[in-house]
Amino acid sequence: MILVLKNGTKEEEILRIREMLSKYDVQVNPIVGTGTTILGLVGDTSVLDINSIYMVKSVEKIIKIQEPYKKSNRKLHPENTVVKVGDVEIGGPEIVIMAGPCSVESEEQITDIARNVKAGGAKILRGGAWKPRTSPYAFQGLKADGLELLSMAKEETGMPIVSEITNTAHIDMFMESVDIFQVGARNMQNFELLKELGKINKPVLLKRGFSNTLEELLMSAEYIMSGGNNDVILCERGIRSFETYTRNTLDISAIPALKRLSHLPVIVDPSHAAGMSWMVESLSMAAIAAGADGLIIEVHNDPANALCDGAQSLTYDEFNNTMTKLRLIANTLGRKL
Ligand code: PEP
Ligand code: MN
Repeated sequence: MILVLKNGTKEEEILRIREMLSKYDVQVNPIVGTGTTILGLVGDTSVLDINSIYMVKSVEKIIKIQEPYKKSNRKLHPENTVVKVGDVEIGGPEIVIMAGPCSVESEEQITDIARNVKAGGAKILRGGAWKPRTSPYAFQGLKADGLELLSMAKEETGMPIVSEITNTAHIDMFMESVDIFQVGARNMQNFELLKELGKINKPVLLKRGFSNTLEELLMSAEYIMSGGNNDVILCERGIRSFETYTRNTLDISAIPALKRLSHLPVIVDPSHAAGMSWMVESLSMAAIAAGADGLIIEVHNDPANALCDGAQSLTYDEFNNTMTKLRLIANTLGRKL
């Protein structure tokens, strides 16, 4: 951290600031110019009370050098984190595909989709039981019954389950049937939920909020990790922009940026980014080419009659065709799929 002092700050004042900082475990390195003096602070500056430093009249500006996220920061943990779910590894050489419907609708629906996406190469089954819908009049999910149906599909196919948690009160119930706890875009900054998920011993798939920066996403990951749960998977799912043609704007640059800033696995949700099924294949290819560790794709047995997000859901054939193309890209990059 750098403190830029006001022009003409006297030596006694500099000494007074150094005295004030001496209670912290940071080294203070002054650089005295002809007009301006700056103080370079080295050490754990996260413990400093920034507000009280701003109150010092001779401080012109505070420049933060280090990122506020620590546990998710690649600088402090250079090797990739690999999140293990059964025998599936997310963040390793293999690209992991999660697929399934937006919402669980019935036993036949979820088991049929599970069988088909598994045959197509998906390793993890997605399915929403609690659906955070914009309208309170829209289908809200089958809730606890949905979890039970997901467990049946898992029983039959052996596929681990990822499903969205919206409420801390559901954690115990989710622990019984869900392998990866999804935090949706709308809940990325539900800090009480994140804190509770920091206490569980199952992976969390953390989606980027549609108006959140990468630093905010990493700070949300920090909430989970600082509670003791290091198994966080980051997910780019499109952000709000001025463009209205697509449901959201897929931020491809988030992939290399997050891979550089953090050691956590990064996956992409092309379905919620596009909002249109015909675009999902292109966005999936782009995400893999840009270095994503996996994808979460909506697939439905009957998209035209889906209770949620049918327009962006792939049919089985479309999913299979997409997987064929993704394999070519993965192979070119020396990754497995
Ligand atoms: C979902 O995965 O079905 C979902 C609601 O996603 P998001 O939170 O990204 O909108
Ligand atoms: Mn959906």
